[in-house]
Formats: sequence, C-alpha cells, structure tokens
Amino acid sequence: MPDPFLKLNDVSKSYDSVVNAPPVTVLSNISFEIQRGESIAIVGPSGSGKSTLLNIIGTLDRPTTGQVILENQDLAKLDENQLADLRNRQIGFIFQAHHLLPQCTVLENVLIPTLVAANKEGAPDRAKKLLERVGLGARLDHRPGQLSGGERQRVAVVRALINQPGLLLADEPTGALDRNASAELARLLLELNREENVTLILVTHALDLAQQMKRAFQLNDGKLIP
Ligand code: ADP
Ligand code: MG
Repeated sequence: MPDPFLKLNDVSKSYDSVVNAPPVTVLSNISFEIQRGESIAIVGPSGSGKSTLLNIIGTLDRPTTGQVILENQDLAKLDENQLADLRNRQIGFIFQAHHLLPQCTVLENVLIPTLVAANKEGAPDRAKKLLERVGLGARLDHRPGQLSGGERQRVAVVRALINQPGLLLADEPTGALDRNASAELARLLLELNREENVTLILVTHALDLAQQMKRAFQLNDGKLIP
C-alpha cells in the first residue's frame, strides 16, 4: 500500500459553550486513512459534526487534539499563510450554497481561484474545457442569476476543480437541489473523481447518494463508523 493521501489520527474537536459549563465534544477520537482518488461519503444527522469534520480536513478549522496528515504533511506544523497556500493549490470546496459572484460571468467565476495561483497558464482553456465537460459550454458569458440551481452547482464544481486540487470536499452540495438535479450532480462528481483523479469526500444526508461512493462512514455521537 502507498502512503495514504489523507490520514486522521485521533482527531477530536470540542467547543467551549457557556461560561462555567464543560466544553461540548463534537468529534471524538476520529481516525481514518484515504488513498488518493478514493470517493468517500460521510452521513449523519444534522448537528452531528459533519461540517466540523470537513472544515478540519479542509484546513479551515483545527482539531482540539489529534493529527491531520495530508500527503505526509502534518497540518498542525503549517502557519496560516502556508495553510492558505495549501488550500488554494490542493483543496476544492463545494457547499450547499453555490457562493458564485452574481455580477461576474460563469467563466469569470470559475477563474477566480486562479487569480492567486502561482501557475495560471492555460487556466482559461482549462476553464472552458471543464465547463464544456459539465454541459455549460454555451453558458460562459451568462451570469449566475440566469442559470438553474443545478447549473449553478456545476459552475461551483468547475470553480473547485480549476486549480487541479488533489482533494475535493463537498458539504451537502445537493442540499438545495431537487431529486433529479441531486442525482445528476452526484453522478457528475463521481465521474470527475475518476477523470481528474481527485479524492472526493462528500457530506450528505441522502443515503442513496452516499451509497454511490466507494466507502461510506456514519458520524454519530462524535464517532465515525464505517
Ligand atoms: P453538521 O454539519 O453535521 O450539521 P456541524 O459540524 O455544523 O454539524 O455542528 C456540530 C455541532 O457543533 C453542533 O452542535 C453545533 O452547534 C456545534 N458547533 C459548530 N460550530 C461551532 C462553533 N463555532 N462554536 C460552538 N459550537 C459549534
Ligand atoms: Mg453541516
């Protein structure tokens, strides 16, 4: 077995709630390993800590205790600037809300993460290719407001992939979509997971979507159960 792409060692997260009350434990000793290119689902009820876990993996938050190792690098050893750089190069995010800029075109939105990237050469070509790949080749100059919810999420997927990250994190990306658009987006994410060799971690409470991933975990009482 090669070294895992991502490794969590006993990751716990607790929040101080009210003054004088004990901290609330959201994640409790979570350990797992993922190989590059895998697709993983994390399911669990609302408030079970799914977003907290994804944000820790995505370097947007730090664990209270435990280690996150991404490509043999201990994230605790990186300062905020190094984390921001790693995030921009290696991690793409998709959320329930698309967070596209309404005044920018589809193509401009997709190119935003490349503005701070070291290597922007070929970015517009790659953007156009990917937008064609997700069926939006005729929509480059449209604004987000002119698209359907499913189309906007596909733009968000392309924006997440534009810097060729090794890791794609999707936090309930189908949460605002109807059944058909959800199924279509899940299928697209899995196809891109293979075509782009990008490791996919999908948080969802839709069990039918979770079952399409290579492995699925359940988050319950702070524990991650296969
Ligand atoms: P999920 O995504 O599964 O719905 P979250 O990860 O958003 O769950 O939240 C898990 C728990 O952690 C919830 O009880 C939430 O209230 C709590 N929580 C999340 N962020 C914070 C915070 N910044 N401060 C205090 N509690 C928080
Ligand atoms: Mg959440």
